[in-house]
Amino acid sequence: MNTSPPLDLAGTAVSPDHYIDGRRVASERSFALSSPIDQRPLGQIAEGLEVHCEAALQAAQRAFPAWSALSAAQRKPLLDRFAEEIGRRADAFCQLESLDAGVLLSRMRHGVVPRAMLNIRWFAEHALTLQDRPIDTEQAHHIVRHDPAGVVVIVTPWNAPLMLSTWKLGPALAAGNCCILKPPEWAPLTCSLLADAAHAAGLPPGVFNVVQGSGAGTGARLVGDPRVARVSFTGSVPTARLIAQAAGANLVPCSLELGGKSAFIVLEDADLDGAAATAALMYRNAGQVCLAGTRLLVHAAVRERFVAAMRGHVERLTVGDPRADSTEVGPIIHPRQVERVQGFVQRAVAAGAELLWGGERHPHGAQYFQPTLLANVAQDSEIVQNEVFGPVLTLQSFSSDDEAVAMANGTDYGLGGICYGETAHATALAQRVRTGFIWVNSFGIRDLAAPFGGIKRSGVGREGGDWSFEFFCDIKDVVVPKQPFKASFSHR
Ligand code: NAD
Repeated sequence: MNTSPPLDLAGTAVSPDHYIDGRRVASERSFALSSPIDQRPLGQIAEGLEVHCEAALQAAQRAFPAWSALSAAQRKPLLDRFAEEIGRRADAFCQLESLDAGVLLSRMRHGVVPRAMLNIRWFAEHALTLQDRPIDTEQAHHIVRHDPAGVVVIVTPWNAPLMLSTWKLGPALAAGNCCILKPPEWAPLTCSLLADAAHAAGLPPGVFNVVQGSGAGTGARLVGDPRVARVSFTGSVPTARLIAQAAGANLVPCSLELGGKSAFIVLEDADLDGAAATAALMYRNAGQVCLAGTRLLVHAAVRERFVAAMRGHVERLTVGDPRADSTEVGPIIHPRQVERVQGFVQRAVAAGAELLWGGERHPHGAQYFQPTLLANVAQDSEIVQNEVFGPVLTLQSFSSDDEAVAMANGTDYGLGGICYGETAHATALAQRVRTGFIWVNSFGIRDLAAPFGGIKRSGVGREGGDWSFEFFCDIKDVVVPKQPFKASFSHR
């Protein structure tokens, strides 16, 4: 089948086709893509059918022996070039992700694209530390190796496709694996452009493949294939259950980075204005951020002052077109998601919640929602217990540290957390929160060397730094005895 003409979007040409074995591959079936900014149709995207999944799996398998045989030092220049090629297309990446995912253009420019490049570069460099690690004991020399696992399937969500795809591709490729990326169907454009960058960088055919399509069709086919060695997934809890079952049937390890309902704790001794300014940031990306602290837990003694300070920050937020420099809160990804957010708010209000602000669609357009804060919510209520994934926060009060910790720990999630207070006090309390990570008097500091992931329903496994390599590699111990070995049935 011939390749499809590129889509011409925001001055950028992007292929709607898959990228398999180093070339573009069209499909006889496609799905429609539209922009969350104004529901404008963006084009038809190739749907991954059985034949495409099979081609990608075979291509990745074929490429694996040569790619895995290279040393990390040999792979590094190619991956550095991959990062450079992302940089050369920076403006296109910014425009496309703003257009299909509604991410702020300013954030793409200053945060996401530099980070995507770093994701590739940093792991290429860090893979140089993956030397054989000797362990010397009385009996033997152990040579502990990190061997590339094989074919890796990466499945990413729509809220941060470029950042999350490169976060997984970086370590997986640097460690010597061959990858198949299944982008989110609501925002696949920057993943397609990643294939162009990889191609221009000269990554060998089959090392990196992109197969687009639905989760239930294309995604399920890929993650359930027994030739796959690892599945790295970021997305929702229900999907994670399906993926874990499919991968589990083949005993394939999966890394699951899932949703959150993180606590944002404000202690009595906190810098209230600093805390309030950070709390307003939870509306970033229209609240479609897994690690946002969406449950504000505020000491009763400072509740009113905190709410007044936060109201000031929220009233100054500009909701609108993500491509405008002045915009701070963009659109919600999909009409279905807007309905979902609205439903959560309506049910909470019907159950007695008090709307401190927001609660309605925003006049800017059909997929914009007002930054919302709901008070008078019970710990066991739906709105406190479930991830909304929209610009909706809840407010609860506590009177003691013990009560704050109990509330923070009182959901099935455990991804992130934020704790504002006098530093020693906040640090001590933060350590009692059951979660994957927690920021003290700050938010969003991410270091590639640090572990990232959640506990409870927020995920399984850790990625980041050495943890990524632990996941994407098979760890093997080659044991060489120091003394001549004498075979004996009584020897342990
Ligand atoms: P989702 O689970 O609906 O979809 C994520 C991806 O999985 C998509 O590419 C989808 O096509 C694919 N998929 C769906 N069903 C599949 C199946 N049966 N087999 C294989 N693949 C399948 O999630 P979403 O709505 O796109 O994203 C929002 C969710 O992602 C939220 O819960 C959010 O908290 C979470 N998230 C978590 C992190 C993190 O790092 N912990 C980061 C961002 C988003």
